[in-house]
Amino acid sequence: MAKSTSKRKPLMEAMDMKRDVYQMVINGDRVDSSTKETFTTYNPATGEPLAQVAKASKEDAERAVQAAKQAFDHGKWRHFPVSKRSRVLNKIASIMRSRFNELVELEVLNSGKSLSAAQGQVMQSIEDFEFYAGAIVGHRGTVNNVPSGFFNYSQNEPVGVCAQIIPWNYPMMMAAWKIAPAIAAGCSVVIKPASLTPLTAIVLTEICHEAGVPEGVVNILPGPGALIGDYLVEHPDVDKVAFTGSTPTGKDIMQKASQTLKRLTLELGGKSPNIIFDDADIEGAVAGSLFGIFYNTGQSCEARSRLYIHESIYDEFMEKFVEKTKQLKLGDPLDKETHLGSIISRGQLEVIDSYVQSAIEEGATVVEGGKRLEIEGFENGHWYAPTIITDVTPDMKVVKEEIFGPVVVVQTFNDEQEVIKQANDSEYGLGSAIWTKDQGRAKRVADLIQAGIVMINCPFSAFPGTPFGGYKQSGFGRELCIETLDLYTEQKSVLSYYGSRPINPFGV
Ligand code: NAP
Ligand code: MG
Repeated sequence: MAKSTSKRKPLMEAMDMKRDVYQMVINGDRVDSSTKETFTTYNPATGEPLAQVAKASKEDAERAVQAAKQAFDHGKWRHFPVSKRSRVLNKIASIMRSRFNELVELEVLNSGKSLSAAQGQVMQSIEDFEFYAGAIVGHRGTVNNVPSGFFNYSQNEPVGVCAQIIPWNYPMMMAAWKIAPAIAAGCSVVIKPASLTPLTAIVLTEICHEAGVPEGVVNILPGPGALIGDYLVEHPDVDKVAFTGSTPTGKDIMQKASQTLKRLTLELGGKSPNIIFDDADIEGAVAGSLFGIFYNTGQSCEARSRLYIHESIYDEFMEKFVEKTKQLKLGDPLDKETHLGSIISRGQLEVIDSYVQSAIEEGATVVEGGKRLEIEGFENGHWYAPTIITDVTPDMKVVKEEIFGPVVVVQTFNDEQEVIKQANDSEYGLGSAIWTKDQGRAKRVADLIQAGIVMINCPFSAFPGTPFGGYKQSGFGRELCIETLDLYTEQKSVLSYYGSRPINPFGV
């Protein structure tokens, strides 16, 4: 990388996306860990090492927070005209577009997910930056009604330094969901990717710099969650924490963040119901239910993992659902014909299998899958068969707990009220899906479902612009939408008096 001779920082480029070593990015520089430590990151589909990644220490976390604070307190980013920030966000998107195939390939290697899943997620990441480039322009203050002689306006001000902690299931898309609205709003960011999947978030950070995001505004710290995550969450100079991950970690973060009353957004786990009414279009419902659970190999917070089928169509639906599940192709994630990639890690594979074993022990029936797979050429990867479990009861672990793998549990129902109760019988409330041709019923059920997202005859949970987030223990705050900008800003009310005579409220 050529050093610029001017005072300006050298332009950072994402260079070759596939490298042997990935550094962290602090204050606009690629840097090694203060301890010089690295960790190995693996391709989950092959089990082979991919690269070495700088392992952040507390000292690095401190430098990153101070860089973000310096950029926020004394830098120019938040003071740029909004159109200029918007232009930089669009530039990030256009660099990503120009390197789309490389980003997709890196995400496939990073996560083991299928090419088609990675393509969709990288495309959505690009669109997130484009969406917030537009949304921020309309994120204006207000002029409010006050008695004559007074004047009141409110303005949105960026909240400050944001710690953003993301999971491994959508490594690039989660980074985009976090970084785009935060920097659009004028905040500075310290992002911590999941240790299993650091590569695409690092590259995205580099692209942000290439596009003109000033030094210190976007910093990235790959490193252990318990150490780096805790440090950020407890740090007095961090103003907001945005977290996506498991519910237990979310609870821990909420407790720790409360010590400094940080602003907090939590996107947590789910156990989303998928309801098939007797008047549903069976073909569409089968295809949507298949995608609903097996997309991203089931490693999706909004995976529709509890399937409720009306008794009168149970046999017909199940025959088709099982048949289509058998047709799903697992294998080389870079092959465009592959539907399902690998599981993220050996540990996660074991978690999934132990859930399936617990179901069998509790008397459930595995009608499809329920086993690890060996894929030719990918013998050291982590593979699990798409799995359908029936004969379950509401108290079973597989029905209550999030599995985070390609496993769906199937139950039946007779009437609308009954299935609403079943659907809401969960500590989670993230996604939900309804399949029916009766629009009145669809609306009634949608109104009564306790979930942040309802899909009606629709396999997809979100697009840039639609609010994404949970009820109950699935967390709070909404991402991906215009309102997300409210969560990265403080509203300041400015009240002034313009009367000709001074006011003397005490009259003394
Ligand atoms: P996780 O263990 O909670 O980890 C998520 C992130 O938090 C990782 O970056 C992790 O770092 C970090 N972390 C771990 N312990 C921490 C701590 N004590 N303080 C601060 N940060 C900490 O979750 P996961 O196993 O990676 O991801 C799966 C979970 O995420 C599932 O439950 C899923 O439902 C949820 N999820 C939710 C959404 C949503 O939008 N609602 C989206 C995707 C995933 P390390 O990687 O270094 O451990
Ligand atoms: Mg974890």
